[in-house]
Amino acid sequence: MLDTVSRLMAIKSKHNILNSCFNDITELVSEVIPSDHKLPKNLYFAKKMMAGLGMKYEKIDVCPSNCMLFWREDDKLGTCRHCGKSRYIQVKNEAGENVNITVPAKQLRYMPIIPRLKRLFLSMKIAKSMRWHKERKRGSQSEDVMVHPADGDAWKALDEFDPEFARDPRSVRLGLATDGFTPFSTSASPYSYWPVFIMPYNLPPEMVLKDEFIFLALVILGPEHLGKNLNVSLHPLIEELKQLWTGVKAYDSYAKKNLTYVPHTSGQYMIYRPMAILLDGL
Ligand SMILES: [Zn+2]
Repeated sequence: MLDTVSRLMAIKSKHNILNSCFNDITELVSEVIPSDHKLPKNLYFAKKMMAGLGMKYEKIDVCPSNCMLFWREDDKLGTCRHCGKSRYIQVKNEAGENVNITVPAKQLRYMPIIPRLKRLFLSMKIAKSMRWHKERKRGSQSEDVMVHPADGDAWKALDEFDPEFARDPRSVRLGLATDGFTPFSTSASPYSYWPVFIMPYNLPPEMVLKDEFIFLALVILGPEHLGKNLNVSLHPLIEELKQLWTGVKAYDSYAKKNLTYVPHTSGQYMIYRPMAILLDGL
């Protein structure tokens, strides 16, 4: 059921299917399959089911001039502390009267990376691949050939900078990249956004830049370039990276099956720390 629903959702996203169309499809499928099926009857229930997978994201209101986030201790503020602009847009009805509805002027979409990093280690196959950068066999390949960032000097410099971090092959090495996008058209539309991606570089070359291993962490809205205020929007991600730096417990399904790989920390749990090695477009 979960497989079917996730594939249906993927088809919806790929072909940009309308919500009403999705509901019609699920209704038709429900009619032709045996009546004791457990398929969700519409998009609402399908989304509810997928939410259980932990793919949740957070919507954080941002000052229209990108000075600050209305987040944590500032969550209750109605205007920006720096420029005084309102957090909300005033909505008017057809008669031009103000309506008492709060619509945020700008929002940041934030998808936490810790649950996704933890999930990598829940799959035995992927957990094994996360050690590739350290445990791979070079075979006939020359030491001079660079096939992965692990062959580069920057990676080796990080190993020297923190030998304790480098000792465990599962210590996650993260890359971070962002760039401005103008969706739907090339230059005519002034609208743009900055997706921020996180990539775990532990994986082998054939996996590391596959879609499923490039995590979208933030969607920062434009339209104008944020300049130094890009830092403001990166705040939730930086907080999470700091949390990872002090250590986060995760279950390693590969170590559990193979006693040779008993982690040096505590039993079948391990603590990993990330390290950003690539900054692009910032
Ligand atoms: Zn402001």
